Order: sequence, then structure tokens, then C-alpha cells
Amino acid sequence: MTRDDTPSADLDAAEFRCDHCGERFGRERGVRPAPFGDLDTTRWQRFDCPACGRRGETVFVARDAVK
Ligand SMILES: [Zn+2]
Repeated sequence: MTRDDTPSADLDAAEFRCDHCGERFGRERGVRPAPFGDLDTTRWQRFDCPACGRRGETVFVARDAVK
């Protein structure tokens, strides 16, 4: 998985790129799968590729939960 080297402070503007199909997408378009295991979704969220559905990257989102 490749990700632009973006500081967490700029997470809202973060862009991911799917290694499978090359689709580039931000958090808005990323597909959030149902929670699994004991993953704390208030702190971690996964963003799957909106184009091919490939499993994406799990990112730390605790900043959002503090709102
Ligand atoms: Zn893809």
C-alpha cells in the first residue's frame, strides 16, 4: 500500500492510492468496511478502494473522535 507522506494533522486532505487499480481517493470516497475484531473504530478506520474494493489502509483517526 502506498500513501503520500502526509502528516496526521492533514488527515482530512490525505489521499490514498490503491496498489491494485491505481485509483486515488481521499477519506470522503474511501469505503469504510464494517468494524472487525477488536478494532477500536473511534481511533482507527480503514479506507478501502472505492473503485475495486481492494482492502485499503487503516489510519489513525482519534483526532476526529475528540470533537
Ligand atoms: Zn482499487
